[in-house]
Amino acid sequence: MTDGNENFARALADVADAHGQRQCLLLDDGSVWSYNDLTFWSQRMAGALDQRGVGRGDRVLVQVEKSPHALALYLGCLRLGAVYVPLNTAYTHEEVGYFLGDAEPRVYVCAPARGASLEAGGSGVEVLTLGDDGTGSLPEAARMATPHEAIEACSSDDLAAIVYTSGTTGRSKGAMLSHGNLQSNARVLLSEWGWRDDDVLLHALPIFHVHGLFVATHCALLSATPMIFMGRFAAAAVAAALPRATVMMGVPTFYTRLLERAELNADVCRRVRLFICGSAPLTEQTFAAWEARTGQRILERYGMSETLMITSNPLYGERLPATVGFPLPGVEVRIAAEDGTVLGADQVGVIEVRGPNVFSGYWRMAEKTAEEFRADGFFITGDLGVSDGQGRVSIVGRSKDLVITGGYNVYPKEIERLLDELPGVAESAVVGVPHADFGEVVVAVLVGEPNRPGELPDEAAVRAALEGRLARFKLPKAVVHVDALPRNAMGKVQKNALRAQFAGLFAPSSSV
Ligand code: AMP
Repeated sequence: MTDGNENFARALADVADAHGQRQCLLLDDGSVWSYNDLTFWSQRMAGALDQRGVGRGDRVLVQVEKSPHALALYLGCLRLGAVYVPLNTAYTHEEVGYFLGDAEPRVYVCAPARGASLEAGGSGVEVLTLGDDGTGSLPEAARMATPHEAIEACSSDDLAAIVYTSGTTGRSKGAMLSHGNLQSNARVLLSEWGWRDDDVLLHALPIFHVHGLFVATHCALLSATPMIFMGRFAAAAVAAALPRATVMMGVPTFYTRLLERAELNADVCRRVRLFICGSAPLTEQTFAAWEARTGQRILERYGMSETLMITSNPLYGERLPATVGFPLPGVEVRIAAEDGTVLGADQVGVIEVRGPNVFSGYWRMAEKTAEEFRADGFFITGDLGVSDGQGRVSIVGRSKDLVITGGYNVYPKEIERLLDELPGVAESAVVGVPHADFGEVVVAVLVGEPNRPGELPDEAAVRAALEGRLARFKLPKAVVHVDALPRNAMGKVQKNALRAQFAGLFAPSSSV
């Protein structure tokens, strides 16, 4: 921005420098980081990485618990013009192996316990560690490092981050996000959501995903306002912190969990001017229950890793349940048929998006990238939606079979592959079924081998077999046995039929 440097770190540093004394991170242990503290650590994180040869365009793979130092590491990477690659902390060694091979990072930063076993296994890439208490080899090195005060000159098209997203056709894809993508989306949200000087953001989201890392932190950092920066979401702690907050961002599960707390009421939320929700569908029931308890209508928005935020319900004006609102300024949204024909109002089709928020493609997957963009630059989201006459968008389902549980994406194929290997299993299908708490949960449907009756593994056996191989959130919450999978004329498993058949598995009466 200033001096023509479009590195997003430049814009953030300008704000931090102008308001260095202000509170930035209000931490679980009662301590506070000022904007100066965050700058201090981001410059030293950058210094430590610089010493290890990390420079412009180099990937830094980061799989650490949420902490102020982790945020400083993200900003340090931006500062160097390096590419930040966050990973879900739940991924197992086996899963991380794929990301190491695909991203080819210069450095992999992980939790101290994980780092020790990786070093022993000799992964080839330099491993640094960072614990959520600020310990580890990276903060140690950072303390000794010369602060890296310079901010690498970048253009808005230069890569800032790669966010791995689940796909439906195989491997996890790395969405390449540029400095321009981050900057434009952050500025639009700041103004659309009317960010104020006296805002205090309650931040209980993980920071390995676009919601917590980009949407939430950027709004606060660009306005030099504080975040109540909680290590994880715990309903009791969040309810206790609400009286200090003016804005909360959450996934639907946050809202359903908070509704279970007796202390949640309008008084607890008296300072909150805005409850924002996204990453998965918010049910009309939760929207209504929240309004009844707190007097506030949740503002639902829609986005994805590849596009950052696309639509939002209005700050002023009517927020409607089961809708995700209007396209953000500068973002074009259209609804199209599979063949690309643009559809009119009230017709269901695939949501397509174009704008400065849209990623440049999937990391090292040129063909996959080409398949998901139209010739005129619109990205095919894979979400099915409908737009009313005024441009208000509702999502009606996913054209892909992604399961979203507690805000995390689960790619069924990955689990099916492992299930199919289990003794006694002839074939399997994984579907998401509605769940009051998680939105959806993973259900495994198994078909037994005809010559081995009675040998199909039950739920405990399946979980035991998959534990350690898959992140916990991907483990099936129910396992059902069927004689055959429903298939269409083309031989494709009809997951819609399975979803309908098992939709009641976690119906309110049976859920815990
Ligand atoms: P991710 O890339 O992990 O952020 O996941 C993106 C996907 O989450 C989108 O493609 C949608 O399917 C879903 N999603 C995000 N926000 C919403 C929302 N408000 N309502 C329904 N689905 C949503």
